Amino acid sequence: MICSQNEIKFYNDFQLTNFNTLKIRSSAKIFYMPDNYGEMMTLFRRNKTKNPIVIGNGSNVLFSSQGVQEPIIHTGLIKTVLSFNQTLEAEAGIKTQALSKMAYEKKLSGFEFLIGIPATLGGAIYMNAGAHGQTISDKLVSAKVYDIENNKVLNLKKEEMNFSYRHSILKEKPYILLSAKFNLEKKDKEEIKAKMDENLLFRREKQPNLALPNAGSVFKNPKDCEFSAGALIDKCGLRGFRIGDCEVWENHCNFIINKGKATSIDYTNIVFEIYSKVKEEFNVELEPEIIYIGKMTKDEKEKWKIMKKN
Ligand SMILES: Cc1cc2nc3c(=O)[nH]c(=O)nc-3n(C[C@H](O)[C@H](O)[C@H](O)COP(=O)(O)OP(=O)(O)OC[C@H]3O[C@@H](n4cnc5c(N)ncnc54)[C@H](O)[C@@H]3O)c2cc1C
Repeated sequence: MICSQNEIKFYNDFQLTNFNTLKIRSSAKIFYMPDNYGEMMTLFRRNKTKNPIVIGNGSNVLFSSQGVQEPIIHTGLIKTVLSFNQTLEAEAGIKTQALSKMAYEKKLSGFEFLIGIPATLGGAIYMNAGAHGQTISDKLVSAKVYDIENNKVLNLKKEEMNFSYRHSILKEKPYILLSAKFNLEKKDKEEIKAKMDENLLFRREKQPNLALPNAGSVFKNPKDCEFSAGALIDKCGLRGFRIGDCEVWENHCNFIINKGKATSIDYTNIVFEIYSKVKEEFNVELEPEIIYIGKMTKDEKEKWKIMKKN
């Protein structure tokens, strides 16, 4: 049932299955859908001690099958985009695929890689998402963030965002992305379209689409290693390996598919088993990309503590 607290929409005991691309069944005690980032900041002020969690498209999160007690704030309605010449300024909840198409329509290059990533801008900046030789930080000029602790809006320049491989300052500090400004490159529409098509074709051949529920690459590619994460998993003989309803994808071993009724416990167990096998065989400690949200069992807590050192 939809409710409203001083006009801010929220739901109680909200089912999260359709709000994560892995399709894990979970529920949030309270789920907010603010219409704009002013409302989002109000929610943080009101829920100060409850540690609300912001989510975008849920394409890199593992919701606990035990449920989520913290308030969840979904950014899906905060999605205004302004453009002027080569500059685009977009709000956190815009879908990255929409952003890619918008840039194409305006003959702007730099977002061709986003066409195949099922994310929001907020999640993409949090993760410093990238593919096909481009990352979200490449063309970023500045970002507007909300500093929860000090209840302040900050304008950060690109250099202040601490971007590196799958990392940004949003992982270090209690900051929420409100919007970001990009300076894109003018190019021919045909050239942009050709790159977008090439990227989509690559994905169709090499990655599962969302008809097979998944959360993208499971592990980051290890530094200083001649093999990718997927190749290491394959060399351990784990292609098609299954625990509960989670399975290592037959076509690419760095993806785990939910075969139907997977739980966060199945996912934790399979990721830990892969991590342990790769460590045993190659002495490489793979780092999972996914962000766990909600109440962990004791066993889940121990396993994620070992795997997520940073
Ligand atoms: C089929 C598939 C393909 C993928 N391909 C790629 C790829 O090529 N490259 C790549 O890098 N990733 C890829 N991913 C992973 C995923 O799409 C990215 O990590 C993406 O950046 C997550 O965005 P999201 O909006 O879904 O974030 P969510 O999963 O909703 O959240 C991820 C994290 O971001 C935080 N967050 C979300 N919004 C905000 C905000 N406004 N402010 C602060 N924090 C926020 C959340 O709290 C959470 O910690 C893929 C995933 C799938 C399912």
